[in-house]
Amino acid sequence: MSTLRGGHYEVVVIGSGAGGGVVAGELAERGRRVLLVEAGPHRTAADFMRWEARANHELWWPPALALDTDASEPPLAIFRGRCVGGTTTINTKVALRPDHQDLAKWHAATGLLGDSGRPFDEQDLAPWLEHVERRLGVRERADWGRCVHTVADAFRALGAPLGPVRSYTDANCMRCGSCLQGCPTNAGKSTATTWIHPAWVAGALELRADCTVQRVLIDRVEGRLEAVGVELSGADGHRQTVTADAVVVAAGALGTAPLLLRSGIVRAAGGSPSSRLIGRHLGFHPARLVTGLFDEVQDAHMVYPVSAHCMKFRHDEDGGFVIEAATVQDPIGFATGLCDESGQPVWGQELVQTVRRYRHCTGLLVMVSDENHGAVTVDEHGREQLTYRFSSGERERNRRALEFARQVLLRAGAGRVFQTAVLSTHVQGGCRMGSDPARSVVDAHGESHDVRRLFVGDSSVIPRTPAVNPSLTIMALAARLADHLHRDERGYLSGATTTSSSSGSSRVAALASTSGSTRSSSP
Ligand SMILES: Cc1cc2nc3c(=O)[nH]c(=O)nc-3n(C[C@H](O)[C@H](O)[C@H](O)COP(=O)(O)OP(=O)(O)OC[C@H]3O[C@@H](n4cnc5c(N)ncnc54)[C@H](O)[C@@H]3O)c2cc1C
Ligand code: SF4
Repeated sequence: MSTLRGGHYEVVVIGSGAGGGVVAGELAERGRRVLLVEAGPHRTAADFMRWEARANHELWWPPALALDTDASEPPLAIFRGRCVGGTTTINTKVALRPDHQDLAKWHAATGLLGDSGRPFDEQDLAPWLEHVERRLGVRERADWGRCVHTVADAFRALGAPLGPVRSYTDANCMRCGSCLQGCPTNAGKSTATTWIHPAWVAGALELRADCTVQRVLIDRVEGRLEAVGVELSGADGHRQTVTADAVVVAAGALGTAPLLLRSGIVRAAGGSPSSRLIGRHLGFHPARLVTGLFDEVQDAHMVYPVSAHCMKFRHDEDGGFVIEAATVQDPIGFATGLCDESGQPVWGQELVQTVRRYRHCTGLLVMVSDENHGAVTVDEHGREQLTYRFSSGERERNRRALEFARQVLLRAGAGRVFQTAVLSTHVQGGCRMGSDPARSVVDAHGESHDVRRLFVGDSSVIPRTPAVNPSLTIMALAARLADHLHRDERGYLSGATTTSSSSGSSRVAALASTSGSTRSSSP
């Protein structure tokens, strides 16, 4: 199939989720000529409805499975969104900040330094967290439903009280429980509603949905490796190349590293230490749902899914897990994921009886701090292979988190407690950000150590998984990256006057005259 030439942009952003949506929107608002490419469809509140099977098909990637390298534990299923807005379109909107301990792990892992030259810390992220919180309208959720009150006393009695979460949901949230199928009222924010649509409707941002980037184009320019554009394919299978002054890969932690590997970076970089780290140090933030069956109706599927949480065990020395309350999966997920006390799938008559009492169930989501021992590689056909291996510490934290959640539910009066297998909705890492090229893939501003003009702008850059839900962190890092790109200290961006006939090499010539120009802005 022939490949068509498809124009030139200052910045091409691959993936429209927590990272890519923010980078693209922020740059477009500042007048940069941006193309945002998204593999999934463009759906809006007008399309969203409480139809689990349809949403799973239209808005989600099929679950990916990571295999235990020792084959002693079951495959770990990983869930993520595939649509404009990425996973933020189908997530539960919890908005938490990483703390000092989370960020100290980043410096320890990759030598990451902040702009001051000191170890990267809260002060490096705080202005960007404030910026994205303001845009998203983050607020506290103290409007707990019956299913939360059912367990709240038990948490308190066990010395670990629940508190209200903060989330990016506005006052129009009708507590319908449909967040994982896309919010039908737009009360639940996403990068689509908050960054992409405002720039897109104003004509400031070009968005191509149903369009997959096959590879990043890398060339040797004046003796140095540079990203010069991307090759993409639309729903009809036609391939096209577009050139760009800078490429931002934000395809999610399971999309970004494989795309870079398929683009041939390791070979082009001569197998440099940083290129050989692509796909390594994947973190899963392992989670599971623990569900209690109660005599009274709970209707935990008809609430805003995560209005409370228990943070007492957040730090590793206190247990290393966070618990969110109170929710149940939607019926298909509930019925297919249900395991008994020993971790065996529930089936037959027992499954039928339990599903009949779905309205009587309320559940806790336990999330455990991990050590980023996972990996994503590509095989000789370019297909992703995922592996994991929990350390003894991670296994112990998983066990303790499960045990505590079980205790809460039994104390709250559950007649029976079920659990799911360990799973992941917060996959991160694979292209770690750091100031030491021997321990990281991209530098402190997300630029590849090996390839100039190539940036990573999503969850892949996180060096160590924070203890809390990651989307706010990812968005803050993305806003910081957008500002860095716009300031353009290296003179990469040619300005909005660039014509669509520019090629990678003529672009370099054009840049010679603009090099050194800087513009400053901060949130
Ligand atoms: C069910 C669920 C609930 C969650 N709830 C919360 C929560 O309450 N709070 C929180 O903080 N976090 C939550 N998360 C996690 C959070 O949403 C993600 O961590 C975050 O969105 C990841 O951001 P990202 O930019 O790395 O990837 P994503 O948001 O997943 O975006 C990546 C995008 O890239 C696209 N893409 C991939 N490959 C290509 C390609 N080759 N070409 C073009 N496009 C491509 C994908 O289709 C996708 O849209 C939840 C996740 C899930 C699954
Ligand atoms: S619970 Fe609130 S945020 Fe979630 S889908 Fe319903 S209205 Fe939207």
